[in-house]
Amino acid sequence: MTSIDLADVTVAGVSVDTRHYIGGRRVASETTFANTSPIDGSELGNIARGGADEIDLAVAAARDAFPAWAAMPTAERAAILNRIADLVEERLPELANVETMDNGGLLRSNLRGVMPRVAHNFRFFADWAVNQLRHDDFETRGHTNHVSWDPSGVAGLITPWNAPLMLATWKIAPALAAGDTVVLKPAEWTPLTASLLADICADAGLPDGVFNLVQGFGREAGAALVAHPGLRRISFTGSVPTAKSIARAAADNLTPCSFELGGKSPCIVLADADIELAAALAVEQYDNAGQVCLSGTRLLVHESIADDFAAAFQAKAASLRQGDPRDPDTDIGPQVHAVHFDRIKGFVDRAEADGASILMGGTANADLGGLYFTPTLVGDAARGSEILTQEVFGPVLTMQRFATDEEALELANGTEFGLAAVVVSGDRAHAAAITERLVAGTIWVNCFFVRDLRAPFGGSKKSGVGREGGTWSFDFYADVKNTVVAP
Ligand code: NAD
Repeated sequence: MTSIDLADVTVAGVSVDTRHYIGGRRVASETTFANTSPIDGSELGNIARGGADEIDLAVAAARDAFPAWAAMPTAERAAILNRIADLVEERLPELANVETMDNGGLLRSNLRGVMPRVAHNFRFFADWAVNQLRHDDFETRGHTNHVSWDPSGVAGLITPWNAPLMLATWKIAPALAAGDTVVLKPAEWTPLTASLLADICADAGLPDGVFNLVQGFGREAGAALVAHPGLRRISFTGSVPTAKSIARAAADNLTPCSFELGGKSPCIVLADADIELAAALAVEQYDNAGQVCLSGTRLLVHESIADDFAAAFQAKAASLRQGDPRDPDTDIGPQVHAVHFDRIKGFVDRAEADGASILMGGTANADLGGLYFTPTLVGDAARGSEILTQEVFGPVLTMQRFATDEEALELANGTEFGLAAVVVSGDRAHAAAITERLVAGTIWVNCFFVRDLRAPFGGSKKSGVGREGGTWSFDFYADVKNTVVAP
């Protein structure tokens, strides 16, 4: 398994080890896969391509490390997680630059929002385990019930490419804080910052084997991980088809799964909305080049204000600057990968062929070429059509008009997804009448993307299974136990 001499590559001036990290050691594989930057197609290096053998090694290392990590006092575990957070903050520019090269996300956002949130993930769950994770004892006929959260074992974590380190640490931090050990398989399009995190874990004094990283493809390393009988938990963020295949594999071992999946969220603009605010919030749905699971990509606008809204929206969207994500003035960068770019283009082309109007964009940026897909607005799509029901996961919004609240709700709830929704209204009672009938895990009224790790996060319908955040995360990663003591 160590026949190819892989080691470091240099990305954005930062040295990144391209091997797995198993049991505190770097481990190579017999084969590798190429990693390229979506910014300009440049080669970023060859990455170790793990499979069943590396997964076996990693799960064994995590199992070996589990008893001591689980037995460590919560406050000591938390102190190590806080040291990881310190090092993330110390190396924040390196992490931000490498991630931008790897997935094409805005450097500005990585520096100011995404990487600080990575550090926050560790601090938050460390603090929650020490200070917040408790349930008041209660009595049953004089007997005392005491609820506790025990470490459960090895958690297998599988993550996507759209916010690679933030989404990975949203799982790693609560799993470690709960006393579990982990094996992470990051997305093959964005392997780099997970490797930097392995360095950070080692430097922070995390015991060997508590965090393990296996690089590789979903159908190889990913499939081997989720089928492994040594796991006690599987947490997955990604697409619905992959979740179905993971659920099938997990069923053989009855491994509990947490799924954070896709969305087709509505952004509902009621007749009493402030049109400028509505247009500004709608334009935010292009964030991260539309590669955000929570995006409200279906603009549902009351017919009385639809023309004014469309004009305000298009004026704001036209001022977005598309370009190199390292440029601080850039608002929209490239799509993550050519395969994904073609998928997005396919959706838009088929919508047009089906009679929809491309009101804005719909093509590669003529000046930039490559993977830079222009912010796109699709109108007049037929109800039930693919572009209105399937997740595109790119900078593609649709616009539909509605006449009544009833119709807005029917459209909003009319997909198999239920991840999020945005409601824009000048009247709180009117907004509340809508939100209480929406099926979604997270709803924003007159705002977007305000996230608090104390809040439950997850999707309804096919957008997910379970909730994470605060105690909900520990409910998943830990074995929740009730001890009843006689008087
Ligand atoms: P994906 O399902 O193709 O891949 C996600 C991960 O699963 C990758 O690491 C991949 O290697 C792995 N994988 C693929 N096949 C596998 C298999 N058979 N067994 C085990 N692992 C396998 O998804 P993606 O394209 O990387 O991510 C985009 C999707 O993620 C979108 O649907 C998006 O909405 C969703 N997403 C959801 C959230 C959320 O919190 N709800 C957040 C971000 C992204």
